[in-house]
Amino acid sequence: MSLIDNIIRPDVRALSAYHVQDAAGCTKLDAMENPYQLPEALRAELGRRLADVAMNRYPTPSYTALKAAICDKLGVPDGYDVVLGNGSDELISMLSVACARPGARVLAPVPTFVMYAMSAQFAGLEFVGVDLKPDFSLDRDAMLAAIAEHKPVITYLAYPNNPTGSLFDEAAIVDILRAVGDSGLVVVDEAYQPFAPTSFMPRLAEFDNLVVMRTVSKLGLAGIRLGYLSASAALLNEIEKVRPPYNINVLTQAAAEFVLAHSEVLDEQAALLRAERSRVRDLLAAMPGVEVFPSAANFVLLRINRPGLDATQVHARLLEQKVLVKNVGKMHALLHNCLRVTVSTPEENKLFLDALQTALAP
Ligand code: PMP
Repeated sequence: MSLIDNIIRPDVRALSAYHVQDAAGCTKLDAMENPYQLPEALRAELGRRLADVAMNRYPTPSYTALKAAICDKLGVPDGYDVVLGNGSDELISMLSVACARPGARVLAPVPTFVMYAMSAQFAGLEFVGVDLKPDFSLDRDAMLAAIAEHKPVITYLAYPNNPTGSLFDEAAIVDILRAVGDSGLVVVDEAYQPFAPTSFMPRLAEFDNLVVMRTVSKLGLAGIRLGYLSASAALLNEIEKVRPPYNINVLTQAAAEFVLAHSEVLDEQAALLRAERSRVRDLLAAMPGVEVFPSAANFVLLRINRPGLDATQVHARLLEQKVLVKNVGKMHALLHNCLRVTVSTPEENKLFLDALQTALAP
């Protein structure tokens, strides 16, 4: 036995590391980033603020000012606090760690955001996926049956869902919250909330088991890594115990506080992207050989419907034209021949649409 065989868990050895494709020189439409930067004057001011940050000191442990700014600007109801994470990814890890006990299970509709299953596995939890319907809506009855059978300690609902863009039925989510009751948490992951018409944040008081998770990533701050979740004070108190100390670095704190003081800029950018989303969808819907699905997020999912051509070929032909999108066609049977494309600026969207026309040509 080698050192690695002796010490690394077999299920970890069997994994591949999370792969992010190199986007050098490409129009990058694979990761749901906001394409807009801050206006020049704000960037200059931010630079001055960051220059004054005491990088020789650990971050303040309680993040009081940043939490207050998040609650004030990002729709956390009065009387509710947040736990902060180094991106939602870290919050998902904290939830897994807090709930991991032998034999416990995590449930989510699939296809969905891959970190729910990965994080569960890292923490030794079993992941159970329940297929969405072919139109990517939630299969309420199958979810309720799986909850009764598996008694999940965590149920994740991405709202809207990645990579489908679908917004699950609100009444079905309420049924899930009630069915789970006090045997598990229901995490409504609102990563794409700036692009969606509804939210569960205002409903926190109705459900003791509801956790609403969000991120600033899709808002335009993916690079600073900052996620937050809200829930009852009793739940937050427990989740806080597994948060790594100092997990939000001083530069992220300072940048987030500064940008949130100018949050109208982010709101305007989200409005531009929502308008572009419907324009891009309409143009895709008019393209022969393409099926496009409704989206409540800052990306669209499309299916290549042309005999003799599949999503992998179209992905490669787009890449030849320096346009990077995400090929999700192999992720799940329901996503057969599907590509996921971030909605971007009018200019980048045009580059994509033109490249797609070329890619689809016989
Ligand atoms: N939740 C969902 C549903 C996502 O799609 C993503 C990013 N792809 C995340 C969370 C991760 O967000 P963060 O950048 O805050 O880790």
